Amino acid sequence: MNKPTLRHKKWAAVSDKDWSSWTWQLQNKIETLADLEEIAKLDPDFSFDPEDVRKTQTDFNFAITPYYFSLMNLKDIECPIRLQCLPSSRENVSLDYELLDFPKEDSMMPVPGLTHRYPDRVMLYTTHHCAMYCRFCTRKRKVSDASTALRGQQIEAALKHIAATKTIREVILSGGDIFSFSDRQLDELLTKVRAIDHVEIVRLGTRNLVTLPFRVTPELVAVLKKHQPLYIHTHFNHPEECSAEAATACKALRKAGCVVNNHTVILKGVNNEQKTLQELNSKLIPMGVQPYYFYHCDLTFGSSHFRTKIEDDLKLIRGLHAEIDWHQEITMSHYMVDTPGGGKVELV
Ligand SMILES: *Cc1c(COP(=O)(O)O)cnc(C)c1O
Ligand code: SF4
Repeated sequence: MNKPTLRHKKWAAVSDKDWSSWTWQLQNKIETLADLEEIAKLDPDFSFDPEDVRKTQTDFNFAITPYYFSLMNLKDIECPIRLQCLPSSRENVSLDYELLDFPKEDSMMPVPGLTHRYPDRVMLYTTHHCAMYCRFCTRKRKVSDASTALRGQQIEAALKHIAATKTIREVILSGGDIFSFSDRQLDELLTKVRAIDHVEIVRLGTRNLVTLPFRVTPELVAVLKKHQPLYIHTHFNHPEECSAEAATACKALRKAGCVVNNHTVILKGVNNEQKTLQELNSKLIPMGVQPYYFYHCDLTFGSSHFRTKIEDDLKLIRGLHAEIDWHQEITMSHYMVDTPGGGKVELV
């Protein structure tokens, strides 16, 4: 069963109403050294190295929702939740084959903020805000930096390009995180995308189901219901993220008519074990979430401490597939490697 999240004692006195409000969660994000120091003072179980924060600040901000922070096992400095959200000076290691814009998204932009890499699909970067900044993020060159976000005018230009390009059958609204949009902004954008006749499939990319499940409110569900069918692509990496709150959010999206698919990045120390991935996928199914892809960690700058070897991933995924009975095939995701400029390649 999915366990409700035990909130950290820093937030023990917060009312349930505030705790489960997504705006409260965003207003109370952990995002400064002082915030972390305050928790360390309050709780002897939590310790961290301030240098990890100081040394990484210029390249990639950090932000953690109180909800996601509470999933952490504070006694374990290698906790998979902690590794995904707390900055580490290991991010400063930069290898010469790691790239700033690893998937070469910026060179495939017919208009700013729209990547057109496959003939029939485009990806629109709507906002560079995320509820949390994942330390392994492929797009960290952009996200968390508000100055690079798309402006209204650019979104209009992107929509014009989509409307004028008849080969485009699918629009992926990504970011950052599309659920950082307000309900009204999302409703307006979906209305405009839906008005383009040749767009058959609309996909929304969000990690809010993992980092801020309270974002899925009845108001958001009402907006999504208006624009069905919609595909939601999310990003659970570890079974501990499959909380009762996350399950409630995912099921509400299914009820609204959405197909909910999951991408998992294989990350060293987080989930590169067969039993972890198996447990993750088997927890996702009852939450109404379909495992979609396992990814090899992209060659994004400063992510070498997370990266596994492709040959080890292959052993892992093949082992996983071998364990699964034919009738459980639904729980199998394919293993994909993204290549610089060449798109995704399916290896298993
Ligand atoms: C991953 C990606 C897609 C979607 O690929 P699928 O295999 O359909 O999930 C589309 N456009 C870009 C730029 C991508 O990186
Ligand atoms: S939610 Fe997605 S885009 Fe945002 S930091 Fe995490 S991985 Fe990157």
